[in-house]
Amino acid sequence: MLGIWEASLRVIEGKIKPHNFDMWIKPIECVGLDGAALRLRAPNRFIKEWFEDNYLPTILEVATGLAGQPIQVLFDVRDEPPPALIPPSPPAAPVLASADPIDDAIDGIASPAGAPPTAKGKGEGRYTFETFVVGPSNQLAYAASRAVAEVPAGKYNPLFIYGGVGLGKTHLLRAIGSELQQRHAGWKLQYLKAESYMNEYITAVRGGGIEAFRAKYRESCDVLLMDDIQFIAGKDRTMEEFFHTFNSLYESHKQMVFTADRYPHEIPDLEERIRSRFQWGLIADIQPPELETRIAILEKKAAVDHIDLPKDVSLYLATNIKSNVRELEGLLIRVAAAASLSASPITVEFAKETLKSFMSQAQHSLTVDQVQKEVATYFNLKPADLKSARRQQLVARPRQIAMYLARKLVKASYPELGQRFGGKDHTTVMAACKKIEELIKTDPKTRHVVEQIERHLTQ
Ligand code: ADP
Ligand code: MG
Repeated sequence: MLGIWEASLRVIEGKIKPHNFDMWIKPIECVGLDGAALRLRAPNRFIKEWFEDNYLPTILEVATGLAGQPIQVLFDVRDEPPPALIPPSPPAAPVLASADPIDDAIDGIASPAGAPPTAKGKGEGRYTFETFVVGPSNQLAYAASRAVAEVPAGKYNPLFIYGGVGLGKTHLLRAIGSELQQRHAGWKLQYLKAESYMNEYITAVRGGGIEAFRAKYRESCDVLLMDDIQFIAGKDRTMEEFFHTFNSLYESHKQMVFTADRYPHEIPDLEERIRSRFQWGLIADIQPPELETRIAILEKKAAVDHIDLPKDVSLYLATNIKSNVRELEGLLIRVAAAASLSASPITVEFAKETLKSFMSQAQHSLTVDQVQKEVATYFNLKPADLKSARRQQLVARPRQIAMYLARKLVKASYPELGQRFGGKDHTTVMAACKKIEELIKTDPKTRHVVEQIERHLTQ
């Protein structure tokens, strides 16, 4: 029993990037054991909070699995008293082989599996509409989420929100949840990750609880909020069950909101009938935030966490991290934690020093522009040619290659790429990508060209 903490750490260590392990997990001390509760201590509140939000759910799950009984955590901060009891995350769902790799984004530990929006005492006010910063990149998704929370099962049913990692999808989903809970106290909201839905379904099928499962998600559910729906793709029986859940809720005019990492048509192995149902309501995307929005997000976060963040530092951080809000927040907390540990003020110099190792890792993202430029140069064209509607092979093939590479390296969505290539339809982009994929297999010359350009771009 006493080795639970060490054993959990060993499991976690293999799944997290070393600099994250050193920064966020190593500083946590285990100071004892209280029945089935681990007593943990963090050197300061920044590390404690980031650890709680990003790593604790997984650690509790691992520890509970290792101990064979629910493990709780008593957490305090060195030199600060009151510890609060944190229960293990959702009723330990069976860990299936398909569990997500933990180290996804920067930091990756995914948000707590299926915790209801209000389950985490202190997280309560954190993911609301008030704490969400609105900008051009997320305006539509935000407005639609608000509309749904105000008039559920109105115009936008289902609401489907998609976008890249760490851009605020879960935040909006939770905001809808807490708003609805406040407005309709008696309603039964089901808020969960698609993965938890699958696990629960499998358990129900095995244990003969399928009736109860169906009652829960069909009859006695007033709102269904499901995160990361792409997870069910390719899981045939779960998709089948989900299809009936969807129909049942839709027919009884119950609001559904889904999030996914991409547009329904780009989710491979998703049944067509489910895909088409996602289009019955509204599909809204979230794009990476612009500089002004990134600065606003940092300032809001700093205010909430009482971090004294000078303007030049927020500009510095926002300029250097472009892709992902979670990454941006992580940087801010990292700087604040380091400043607090060394009792120094937060300056640009200090931020630079602290973030050195991190920045080099974060500088990975290529842009569509860069891809277009590189491809155009290779073929002696202008980037504008690639965006034109000219159909001559001389231009059309390079355009297809550029689309293919932008898709592969920038991981932009088909509709976005269509836009970036002069306002073409997303099906055009899809066809182009497919064409090049084929040629790479069948035509050595094309393969060579594509590989060469790709090498230029990634070196
Ligand atoms: P996703 O589910 O899209 O991967 P999350 O919703 O988990 O991303 O967001 C990652 C982090 O970034 C969360 O802490 C969230 O509160 C924050 N965040 C994302 N977008 C915004 C925004 N527009 N305003 C404020 N915080 C944001
Ligand atoms: Mg999410």
